[in-house]
Amino acid sequence: MLKGSVGPRDNDSRFLLDVHHRDLPGYDTMTRYGEDDEVDLIVVGAGAGGSVLAQRVARAGWRVVIIEAGPFWHPDEDWVSDEAGSHQLYWTQKRIIGGDDPVEMGKNNSGRGVGGSMVHYAGYCPRFHPSDFETRTRDGVGADWPISYDELRPHYERVEAELPVAGQDWPWGHPHRYPFSPHPVSEAAMVLWRGAERMGITMRAGPVGIVNGTFGNRPHCIYRGYCLQGCKVNAKASPYVTHLPDALAHRVEIRSDSMATRIEIDDATGRATGVVYRSEEDGAEHRQRARLVAVAGYSIETPRLLLNSTSRRFPHGLCNNEDQVGRYVMVQGASQTAGRFPTELRMYKAPPPEVSSEDFYETDESRGFARGFSIQTVSPLPIGWAEHVLADGHWGRSLREYMRDYNHWSVVGVLNELLPRADNRVTLADETDPYGLPVARFDYSQCDNDRANIAYSTKVITDLLEAAGAQDVLTIHRYAHLIGGARMGTSPADSVVDRNQRSWAVPNLYLCDGSVCPTQGSANPALTIMALASRLGQHLASGPPG
Ligand SMILES: Cc1cc2nc3c(=O)[nH]c(=O)nc-3n(C[C@H](O)[C@H](O)[C@H](O)COP(=O)(O)OP(=O)(O)OC[C@H]3O[C@@H](n4cnc5c(N)ncnc54)[C@H](O)[C@@H]3O)c2cc1C
Ligand code: SF4
Repeated sequence: MLKGSVGPRDNDSRFLLDVHHRDLPGYDTMTRYGEDDEVDLIVVGAGAGGSVLAQRVARAGWRVVIIEAGPFWHPDEDWVSDEAGSHQLYWTQKRIIGGDDPVEMGKNNSGRGVGGSMVHYAGYCPRFHPSDFETRTRDGVGADWPISYDELRPHYERVEAELPVAGQDWPWGHPHRYPFSPHPVSEAAMVLWRGAERMGITMRAGPVGIVNGTFGNRPHCIYRGYCLQGCKVNAKASPYVTHLPDALAHRVEIRSDSMATRIEIDDATGRATGVVYRSEEDGAEHRQRARLVAVAGYSIETPRLLLNSTSRRFPHGLCNNEDQVGRYVMVQGASQTAGRFPTELRMYKAPPPEVSSEDFYETDESRGFARGFSIQTVSPLPIGWAEHVLADGHWGRSLREYMRDYNHWSVVGVLNELLPRADNRVTLADETDPYGLPVARFDYSQCDNDRANIAYSTKVITDLLEAAGAQDVLTIHRYAHLIGGARMGTSPADSVVDRNQRSWAVPNLYLCDGSVCPTQGSANPALTIMALASRLGQHLASGPPG
């Protein structure tokens, strides 16, 4: 593979972008479909999964409407290189949390608006390992997927070329290369890399969905570290720049500020007929007809929309006659350890994701728990740093001193594979939102294996910092990402969709987001969600529209 020399086929997004301003091209000339016009496909949610699916089938001539709850961004005006000013990017609508180990909701787990959560994701783009698809068979925990790694592999390669992903040759899982060379590594990450080396841990630069070189009209990353605030440069990949320009050029309509409230079912045939949504523009309820519906609202909102879509056939929520909707929601353990070094490191002067290791990814029985974790460098900006210091219990004068010392610190984190459990689930709360819809309740509890994994991995990264020569160490425990909630499987008794992400209960209803994953590995999920959407798009496009 000649790095960076061959762009992706069948996706012109990189050339459609304007070099002079950041707006998604094609908005003014966007195709508009009538509500009574039965389009081929409605996609609910313009995020990682929904955008890739829309782009793929639009290329095959399908007429597609995306219904998106959040705004149609104008990045030059809307996105700011400022932590405090970026709250509009997050899904901050009310959600109730519970369970023994509740998961904080908000900026750290989901986004809202055209481009979805990837507008403010960090940019790490690893693949899942082949073992992730058969954890039940190999390790006696979790679940086997109804598809194998090899079935997803061509779509990993295709999406990696589209983002494009930059990184060193990858030795873990199924070894592979990346289309773009690795980015230079900052000194903040290098000190951690040297610490890892002293412990015998292998590290690699990347993999990140950040342009290293020019890519069509997308410029090189300028290393100013605002990836989690929406990259104003267009160097960081998100569907907003990687798939939606091409989708709009192929007659996809995005209806933004439109919250889907119900999927309509024909009680006689049992087929979906369209989607009901509330438009913020006029406050009114609308109804779009379609031959096929795909829901891509992510792990909390997809189950919520299904549960809110009751009918005579589905009195307990759409596709929920087997009581599977909302179950097996997962988060990854994401403890972070910060180390203080004598020299100034200025960790903000690079993208937060830089180097990582998957040495601990698979089960090692000597560790005393199943499955494992990955190690990744992260570089919080000052507000994130303050949250880290506060979580370690510092306040007042002590907090101020740690803040003044910010330039001397570097931070490394883990992603633990926490296991899927049926009772970690989304249900409907009694409270309602401004649309009158019951809000989601998410209960989450860890199991003993999860706790052992988190404890072991925290010791590894603390040891790594000590090996790196850190003078002081601050460790916090937290979660990252969301996965599951409407998983794929081989039987309606323990899953919501089949191997092609078609719901068992409604023949023309598909799910196309992170909710379908039966396990989560220790890899960040966006690339896998996009690869699954690419596979589904190919599957649908091989048949007649709708
Ligand atoms: C701070 C942060 C950092 C992250 N860092 C990484 C990383 O480095 N690497 C990685 O791989 N992953 C990362 N992630 C996770 C990644 O962004 C998500 O896993 C991925 O975007 C999920 O894709 P999705 O298609 O399932 O949902 P999303 O991308 O969240 O898209 C769902 C869309 O549906 C819309 N929607 C929901 N409900 C409705 C409704 N009822 N009607 C209309 N629209 C609706 C939402 O507004 C949203 O735009 C990060 C996430 C966050 C928040
Ligand atoms: S560091 Fe690079 S990818 Fe991140 S926001 Fe800046 S230009 Fe974009």
